[in-house]
Amino acid sequence: MQKQSSNSDIIFRSKLPDIYIPNHLPLHDYIFENLSEFASKPCLINGPTGHVYTYSDVHVSSRRIAAGFQKLGVGRNDVVMILLSNCPEFVLSFLAASFRGATATAANPFFTPAEIAKQAKASNSKLIVTESRYVDKIKDLQNDGVIIVCTDDEPSPIPEGCLRFSELTQSTEIETVEISSDDVVALPYSSGTTGLPKGVMLTHKGLITSVAQQVDGENPNLYFHSDDVILCVLPMFHIYALNSIMLCGLRVGAAILIMPKFEINLLLELIQRLKVTVAPMVPPIVLAIAKSPETEKYDLSSIRVVKSGAAPLGKELEDAVNAKFPNAKLGQGYGMTEAGPVLAMSLGFAKEPFPVKSGACGTVVRNADMKIVDPDTGDSLPKNKPGEICIRGHQIMKGYLNNPAATAETIDKDGWLHTGDIGLIDDDDELFIVDRLKELIKYKGFQVAPAELEALLIGHQDITDVAVVAMKDEAAGEVPVAFVVKSKDSELSEDDVKQFVSKQVVFYKKINKVFFVDSIPKAPSGKILRKDLRAKLATGLVN
Ligand code: AMP
Repeated sequence: MQKQSSNSDIIFRSKLPDIYIPNHLPLHDYIFENLSEFASKPCLINGPTGHVYTYSDVHVSSRRIAAGFQKLGVGRNDVVMILLSNCPEFVLSFLAASFRGATATAANPFFTPAEIAKQAKASNSKLIVTESRYVDKIKDLQNDGVIIVCTDDEPSPIPEGCLRFSELTQSTEIETVEISSDDVVALPYSSGTTGLPKGVMLTHKGLITSVAQQVDGENPNLYFHSDDVILCVLPMFHIYALNSIMLCGLRVGAAILIMPKFEINLLLELIQRLKVTVAPMVPPIVLAIAKSPETEKYDLSSIRVVKSGAAPLGKELEDAVNAKFPNAKLGQGYGMTEAGPVLAMSLGFAKEPFPVKSGACGTVVRNADMKIVDPDTGDSLPKNKPGEICIRGHQIMKGYLNNPAATAETIDKDGWLHTGDIGLIDDDDELFIVDRLKELIKYKGFQVAPAELEALLIGHQDITDVAVVAMKDEAAGEVPVAFVVKSKDSELSEDDVKQFVSKQVVFYKKINKVFFVDSIPKAPSGKILRKDLRAKLATGLVN
């Protein structure tokens, strides 16, 4: 729906009516609001072990871990880092942090020690929940007083100086903490529209609003039902899985099948055996499943929803999914960490479904305003005209941690969050993303911040200037490539550059290709003209 605001902005709203959202509650109270209905139902299913936690188990255990955190001195607004692949302990730790009025910041356990230390220090993490096998990467942080808790089960040993997660659950006395709805409960890291990764402050109010926008209200079967079995193979350290799978699943009382990694045979076997009904994915997983002959061996007819997000999904993949999952509706969602994260979602799953359009990523969520603005003039644009997508509502971030300048660049004085994505809204209120204005590179849905790689590369003695941009790639969607200016007489090779970076970063940030150039195109302000470099790649004008 389109309406004209007083200052002549053209504002787009959901096709569904607004709903009541109890966003004055602490997040855990909202999540467990209907616990009595679900107490004995399966809540978390550990894929590899088959262990099932009921809703009551999850509620009791997360409160006990909160009591354990309390004993260790973690209080309101302290930060707990979760450095884990998907597992039930991830969920318990997140909820426990919420019960304590603390903030959870999750990081990829495959990060290098330097990448983890950067996030741990920037977020001022007091305690890290991890597995023994990652402790070597974070041992140094103990010198700064950081407490390390390992989730490994007994009897396997844990490194000296660390605590065992199961010991935390021995505590039962949890004191009540005053929590404000404006307190930060989750702190994912994202580079946003420009620069280095920054802590994105998501509050209790913000996350409740976002979850409610997806699964609450008059049309309650919008996305998940209480009898759904939801696949969670996407990493919970990214806000997509944390919010749109874990928190949404818990809110409606569904069972969540937790998979630590993408292993196609185990995944298909579990879909068949546990009759998984909802499969949230990202395009590279959709591609892997679509191309796999293994799918023929399994009955996948239980799946009623396949949802794709985090990166664009092409028409060919849509067709492939429709063929592989004959009983499923496929719909896209569009998210951005800073937006809480969901801005738009397909209404093809609603109780009274709207048609799903190919290529569309749904309609703006309820209780929110969206507008499309001309990136040059800032004027708001009518339907069918592409421009920068902006969103406003209680679900968006409070701001970047300790970075008011970056916050002000992203959220304007009227409360609009500028996404850096270019899209249009068509006559049926469906949003289409057509381009990306911002620097961000997305490798299989993972964020790669060009500024982070440029900062590393410029530290190389043989490199005098550098720019990193995205190059299209069939399997990954996009890969980072570097344009490098070598110092005079340097014999630096492509391999040297690649290896220099790969030692310092997680696998998906590795430089895929290096182009040696004489200069990097820049605006008079010194800003890299990335568009020109991307255009060069697209036209093949590089060697
Ligand atoms: P992140 O903050 O890691 O979730 O990345 C957010 C960015 O991913 C967005 O600003 C978009 O550029 C991109 N993105 C997310 N969902 C979609 C989608 N459905 N289609 C195209 N791009 C998407």
